[in-house]
Amino acid sequence: MFDIKKIRDDFPILSRKVYGKNLIYLDNAATTQKPLCVIEKISEMYSSFNANVHRAVHFLSDASTNEYEAARTVIKNFINAEKSSEIIFTKGTTDAINLVAFSYGERFIEKGDVILVAESEHHSNIVPWQMLCQRKHAILKSIPINDKGEIDFDKYIELLTEKVKIVAVAQVSNSLGTINDIRKIIEKAHEFNAKVLIDGAQGVQHFKTDVQELNCDFYVFSGHKIYAETGIGVLYGKHELLEQMPPYQGGGDMIKSVSFAKTEYADLPLKFEAGTPNYMGAVSLGEAIKYITQIDLENIQTYETELANYAEEKLETVENLKKIGTAAKKTGVVSFQLGNIHPYDAGMILDKLGIAVRTGTHCAEPVMHHFGILGTIRASFAFYNTKEEIDELCLGLLRVQKMFH
Ligand code: PMP
Repeated sequence: MFDIKKIRDDFPILSRKVYGKNLIYLDNAATTQKPLCVIEKISEMYSSFNANVHRAVHFLSDASTNEYEAARTVIKNFINAEKSSEIIFTKGTTDAINLVAFSYGERFIEKGDVILVAESEHHSNIVPWQMLCQRKHAILKSIPINDKGEIDFDKYIELLTEKVKIVAVAQVSNSLGTINDIRKIIEKAHEFNAKVLIDGAQGVQHFKTDVQELNCDFYVFSGHKIYAETGIGVLYGKHELLEQMPPYQGGGDMIKSVSFAKTEYADLPLKFEAGTPNYMGAVSLGEAIKYITQIDLENIQTYETELANYAEEKLETVENLKKIGTAAKKTGVVSFQLGNIHPYDAGMILDKLGIAVRTGTHCAEPVMHHFGILGTIRASFAFYNTKEEIDELCLGLLRVQKMFH
């Protein structure tokens, strides 16, 4: 059963006050709050298990390594990867995309090759590819979106040729909340032998993701957006691809042997985990995933969908509110403008009411160019938010309007 009261009690920060008002945290697409079990796990790790992983024979190092590798298995099961060695720990989504752009790009991208990204991508799924294209004299092209914020599938098909080597798209757009039809995108790309990277930063926490069923080549996400610590993320890659890719960084842990004549690299996944990894972050991610698995992602999805529908309807009642991004399939992200009030001004006033929303371009400037705007106000929900909080947001927006008129 989905017990919202109990769930809110699991997140200590939700009961704090801001400027004497109840905190209403609606910036979950930027980062999520942490449940007590994750906070306690980190504390337990530092109190009882802290030692560097994969290095020493002593008790603590062994325990810490076991926790680290157990987390990898939890993640493997969560996204249904075939093998644990396909799960590479990174600093986050950005780091994971850079890893693929650098390593896969170094080995496989040649002059004149084409990389496709959607116009709606986060900067972290644009700039690493742009840098790769500059290095390799390859060509980056964007797949247009329509005025609802959906990927234009016909235009995508037109862009697909044998020259396309990589298609990189988000499962869900962070600025608009559009759920992209990644299954269809992957299928089509594979007809042209292109590899597909899915940016799951805004998807993995909202609905069940099965990388084998999707048949994506790479899948990336960030721990901090799925109730775990910052500084930890995941790159899933198909084993045979990761095997062929050169290491991204050199250092300790990613080697079998080193001499000045020759260095032999470690097997997967360690080949891509140079240096002391963020094992605390990895363990926190394992714990966060266990927590949401126990609530059940289906329950989470049902509740979040109800919340999102409520928000979409309720925000319609706010005068002069114009939604940006009206896709048929969306998660709980609502981006909007309020008359000609600058999003930043609206955000500042909402903040004084205890309401945390995001304002600006959301690291997706091409989306803002598409709509010819400077930015939006974005409210993004998690399964610990409530309809009452959405009512408060609407009242807050009315206050903002009154202040400006
Ligand atoms: N992609 C998407 C869709 C995102 O929402 C974000 C974070 N806003 C990122 C990539 C980058 O994630 P991180 O900053 O955790 O690396």
